[in-house]
Amino acid sequence: GAKPIATRTRTTCGYCGVGCSLEVLTRDGEVAAVLPDRDGPLNRGHACVKGRFAHGFLHSPERLTRPLLRRGGRLEPVSWAEALDHVARGLRDAIAAGGPDAVAAISSARATNEENYLIQKFMRVAIGTNNVDNCSRLCHAPSAAGLTAAFGLSGGTDSFDDVEKADCLLVVGANPVEAHPVVGARLLQRVLRGSRLIVADPRSVGLARHADVHLRPRPGTNVALFHGLAHVLLTEDLVDAEFLRHRADGLAELTALLADYPPERVAAVTGVPVGELVAAARLYGRAEQPAIVYGLGVTEHLHGTDGVRALANLAILRGAVGTDHGFGVNPLRGQNNVQGASDMGALPDLLPGYGKVIDPAARVRAETVWGVPVPDRPGLRIPEMFAAAREGTLRALWVIGEDVCATDPDATRVAEALEACPLVVCNELFLSETAQRADVVLPVASWLEKDGTFVNFDRRFQRVRPALDPPGQARTDFAAVHALAAVLGVDLGCRTSAAALAECGRLAPIFGGLSHERLDREGAIPWPCQDPGHPGEAKLYRKRFATPDGLAHLSACPYLPPGETPDDDYPLILVTGRRWAHYNSGSMTRHTGNIRLDPVDRLDLHPADAARHGLHDGDPVTVESRHGRAALTARVSDETAPGQVFCAFHFPSSGVNTLTSDRADTVTSCPEYKVTAVRLRPL
Ligand code: SF4
Repeated sequence: GAKPIATRTRTTCGYCGVGCSLEVLTRDGEVAAVLPDRDGPLNRGHACVKGRFAHGFLHSPERLTRPLLRRGGRLEPVSWAEALDHVARGLRDAIAAGGPDAVAAISSARATNEENYLIQKFMRVAIGTNNVDNCSRLCHAPSAAGLTAAFGLSGGTDSFDDVEKADCLLVVGANPVEAHPVVGARLLQRVLRGSRLIVADPRSVGLARHADVHLRPRPGTNVALFHGLAHVLLTEDLVDAEFLRHRADGLAELTALLADYPPERVAAVTGVPVGELVAAARLYGRAEQPAIVYGLGVTEHLHGTDGVRALANLAILRGAVGTDHGFGVNPLRGQNNVQGASDMGALPDLLPGYGKVIDPAARVRAETVWGVPVPDRPGLRIPEMFAAAREGTLRALWVIGEDVCATDPDATRVAEALEACPLVVCNELFLSETAQRADVVLPVASWLEKDGTFVNFDRRFQRVRPALDPPGQARTDFAAVHALAAVLGVDLGCRTSAAALAECGRLAPIFGGLSHERLDREGAIPWPCQDPGHPGEAKLYRKRFATPDGLAHLSACPYLPPGETPDDDYPLILVTGRRWAHYNSGSMTRHTGNIRLDPVDRLDLHPADAARHGLHDGDPVTVESRHGRAALTARVSDETAPGQVFCAFHFPSSGVNTLTSDRADTVTSCPEYKVTAVRLRPL
């Protein structure tokens, strides 16, 4: 019979932003099973097909177990000492040629909070640059900018436990049933028990099938849609006048702007019928405790930050944020710890805890703890790093856990940037598209092999614990950063991940009350958490907003069209997203049994468009945009609207991100993934 289980380890799922608590059972150095934790604060005994079953990648023969160094055009196994010496030499050469700003690092949600803290500290202390960014640049950077402008802090306003009490849910640009399945199931359960549901999304998937009203705006017209809803709230007096008088600012400017957004004009811009727009506004406006939940369908646009601000307007008009009259505005983070990567200051303009690098007081707080001056000029954002590499001013790039050649937009140009950069170092689990182009590849631990914390989508810190040792010579990112710093002759301090979180709390007051010991004892704790006796603030802004004047700010941002619109040459609009069984570039889930659930990247298209192109289910199809070409498999479905197509980018070999453009949110540089004009060619 089977041997008994040797160990049980409680940890936090490293896939989506829900942050399910899991129990990992290991036997003979292998994972025997992953079970959902009955006491998990968010999952309460549930998990999805990713967290529960997608762990076979750990033992894949394709895992990287030795450092690789490029010699004569080939990546060859070397010792850690040799790899790090090469990296250190390359960094010194880059700095000698172009100063500290010739070096940059891209961190990611694959790294724990403590690793992200250490990575940004390495860049600021050991290198002397603010050139550090993370993958939130590609997803929720507009949330951070938009929510900060409206309310003062970058995170969602309420806990999911509260959101679930809403009597009206407005779910926008998100498909949680596939992308955040445990939250999707909880929302669906809430709807089946009587909450009203409005879904705003071009596709008819998941929750949309259960909605009281399903608004299907043309991709790229969100701001007009939200202004149309706000127009109805104002004209039908469905606003909280008391709240607007005492706790909000900007009503006069917004009222003037909204005069230009009557339902008829909004219907013409968005394609949403007037009756549906008015019905949705009345549902949201008349609810006693409405909540807004949204995803990347709001942020990944040319005007993504405006979309977040216009969405926040609705909650402010209703007084449904920071009060008992609703549950605010809540972004569903795509990856567990994408929130944490930003919280820890792996950003070019912000230090741990969101102090600005241009703010002398914030710099002094960091300098007091680190003992060195902090550069006062914001560093490069990810797209700027690639541009600088192509121009020759960026001479060394360290990519930590992000497959930029598969997941960043306009992937052909990203590959050109890596080609032009004299030193590219990549921390990876597998020989990803990016690792294949690197000069040095460092084999690192996965989320099931490391110690630290993650922050989930509702700002909760939870513990990550190693169920296994990393394979072969693979090390944690934490150990890799320390080792490289040591070769450069720099001691970064904080030798353990617990010490790193403690140090972060000393310079970032909003994390001051957090510790591994406390998290081990209490489970999940949301930030802000200023002191060890504070339970953390699940609901923000009860007393005042965190803006300088303490008020919520309405935004009078006009609707501006998307970067691409269909024309005779490229008559369809491509929207990209995620599917149920896979996760982002698929590097982990493709190396598990989940590959059988979803073996290829498929292009969803409406039956009318399929007929026009002579395509049937399962046919190979080439998709072309102005930027590139991808090879996919047709899936004929009325889930997508006529004139629109949808696909994920879980299989880098299909080349989906060669299609997407480098157009990006005008405020945050978040790519416009959701609107690309394409045409189809049957093979
Ligand atoms: Fe939970 Fe998300 Fe992990 Fe699924 S992928 S188990 S929903 S955290």
